[in-house]
Amino acid sequence: MLLVEDSRMFATVLTHGLETTHGLSVIHCSSLASLRLAVESGIVFSLAVLDLNLPDAPNCEALDYVLDQGIAAIVFTASFNDDTHKDVLSRPVVDCVIKNRPDSITQLISVVDRAMTNSLTHILLADSEDASRREIYALLRRQRFMVTEALSGADALQMLDAGETIDIVLCDIALCDMTACTLLREIRQRYCEDDLSVVAMAPSADGIQAGRFLHAGGTEFIQKPFCVEEFNGRLFQVANLQKRLQSLHSIAARDYLTGIYNRRHFFQHGPRMVDQCLRRGETTSIAVVDIDHFKRLNDTYGHEVGDLVLKAVAERLRGMIDEEHLLARLGGEEFGILFNELSVAKASEFCEVIRHDIGCTKLVADGEELSITISIGVATIEGPETFDNYLNAADQFLYMAKHGGRNRIVSEMTALKALAS
Ligand code: GH3
Ligand code: MG
Ligand code: MG
Repeated sequence: MLLVEDSRMFATVLTHGLETTHGLSVIHCSSLASLRLAVESGIVFSLAVLDLNLPDAPNCEALDYVLDQGIAAIVFTASFNDDTHKDVLSRPVVDCVIKNRPDSITQLISVVDRAMTNSLTHILLADSEDASRREIYALLRRQRFMVTEALSGADALQMLDAGETIDIVLCDIALCDMTACTLLREIRQRYCEDDLSVVAMAPSADGIQAGRFLHAGGTEFIQKPFCVEEFNGRLFQVANLQKRLQSLHSIAARDYLTGIYNRRHFFQHGPRMVDQCLRRGETTSIAVVDIDHFKRLNDTYGHEVGDLVLKAVAERLRGMIDEEHLLARLGGEEFGILFNELSVAKASEFCEVIRHDIGCTKLVADGEELSITISIGVATIEGPETFDNYLNAADQFLYMAKHGGRNRIVSEMTALKALAS
């Protein structure tokens, strides 16, 4: 981040505040000349906080320079009359904070916080009216949000189904093909309130509409025409809450020992992934991986070595399985893999690679080299059933793999072959 400020006192306090609260690396410049040098050095800056009056730039030249470079700007200035205010806000700045007020530093730090949170937040803006969509798009970009536009409700749903990672859907109350309430109902079938916020905008003070929308699981309702500051404030609040929930969820979704996803997350996220696959008309597969004779390993080497082996296997699986698939520790020495659009034949081939890799890996524990093998059950997912059913099918194939001698993969295909022979 750039801090363009000629007062040494403000520079010191702000650098300290921004570095400790945000872990940002702050480069301080006290003149337009040093600002140019910093920008020309090749460092990429995403945000600048700047004073309007500098010894070598008395008339907003530093601000214009920063904006020309495509860097988001937050103005922090003492010289403030109505004309300057208008002049500054007519430029695409994130915000303007007035110096020399008791809480100005705290206020500035919270504006930076807002810009940073917003820049990590992806909004899907659904509005069928071109002029209003363009205007709102510009407002959101100015506040550093990532924005994707949708021209209709169907368009918005299609983007969500295509797997776009969206944090907030901001929609006009009356889209060309559906109302915000209908869109909300569709969205809530796919995502719960903690995963995706939905905000509606409506032109009048229609309390009934607002009530209906919020009652159906909407997050916030903004009346049009709105005051820009209120609009920014409300959206930031939604984004902030969303980010906090996401970080709580990501802590709760991890297995304490291996750091990969846990059973809870697998059952929460898995059904949605299956749903999205089936909605796209694709089939996919699910696998259960189980370490062979793990109890014996525990009994021979002790529980701590057992734990090390679990961590090593999880690490290996994580290294081999792309993020688009869902990997979790289901419990004990059992792992689940929900593939994203992978036929049972392809999934079995892939599991064969995993089985071979883990079988060949030498683990060193307590100075001793040990090797382990795994068995895998793979089941196909081709129609809507309960998530438990898919997993049970994979479990049954795993049972057959164990029964057949371990260190092998069983799926519909191999099971049918075995029956035929
Ligand atoms: P199989 O080849 O049939 O899968 O036999 P197995 O011994 O691997 O399976 P079994 O289900 O009989 O035993 C699993 C063992 O895993 C029993 C349990 O004590 C151990 N276990 C479960 N969770 C943990 C853990 O977190 N750490 C360690 N070290 N052991 C665990
Ligand atoms: Mg086992
Ligand atoms: Mg087991």
